[in-house]
Amino acid sequence: MQQDSIAAIANSVQLLSAARLIVKIGSGLVFDADTGEIRGSWLETLIEDVARFVGRGQQVIIVTSGAVAAGSRRFCRSDRRLQAEEKQAAAAIGQVQLMIAYEQSLKHHGFAVGQLLLTAQDIDNRHRYLNVRSTLQQLLKVGAVPVVNENDATATTDICFGDNDRLAARVAEMVNADVLILLSSVDGLFTEDPQENQFARMITEVRCITPEIQAMAGHSTARHGSGGMVTKLMAASMVMDVGCEMVISNGSKPYPLAAIENGGPSTWFFPLAKDKGGHDACANCLPQA
Ligand code: GLU
Repeated sequence: MQQDSIAAIANSVQLLSAARLIVKIGSGLVFDADTGEIRGSWLETLIEDVARFVGRGQQVIIVTSGAVAAGSRRFCRSDRRLQAEEKQAAAAIGQVQLMIAYEQSLKHHGFAVGQLLLTAQDIDNRHRYLNVRSTLQQLLKVGAVPVVNENDATATTDICFGDNDRLAARVAEMVNADVLILLSSVDGLFTEDPQENQFARMITEVRCITPEIQAMAGHSTARHGSGGMVTKLMAASMVMDVGCEMVISNGSKPYPLAAIENGGPSTWFFPLAKDKGGHDACANCLPQA
């Protein structure tokens, strides 16, 4: 059997067996920096994928970035970095554009959309945490698709997630998700930066975030997002601790979830196995290239 078809079967099994999935969309996917527009036709294909998952009985929560990117044109047409207060106002404008696009695509498939804009306090404060969780559960119960982002317009710089990788991980923990899918503009985790080293290899499976794995993350960040591989590994470590799997995959092309199911490039993170004494069986764990 071809390596690709083995990967496709393995990936499909992982995704099919998940009752609840979180799909995190990076800014660079939903927003086209060249045209300055939301990528409407790409979004349609993502939502078609989501509709297929929901149609077979799975629950999906979307965590989306892109508000700052979508609203930033009002403030600046060059690559100048926005001031913090400009970013917050840009998010207030862009979040509306973002939700109009999600609402239109989801409505097309008969889904209502429920928007949740969260701050770090909503997760850290027990009472608010329980409220958020119950709102998410109620939305899923009635078949609506929750779409989550950080409340960038009100978050203060000293208390904010800053990146949606970790926000998505917190949401995954909160609702006991089975799989967290991080869609970004990279294929997965590489041994080194593939743009700088042609011999960089992609890691397909990680069972333990070792210092060696951490060193692979480097400090890359996308032009319009706040995360990079470092925050993706932080997210992986958070969800693996609570028994949730995570996958990083390149979502740039249409039908990004189908691409994972069809064995497209991706890095899977599997929760730590426990030994008989209940300790993390990490010591013998080596990454699979
Ligand atoms: N919340 C930010 C936005 O909507 C994105 C944060 C991130 O890039 O992870 O623009």
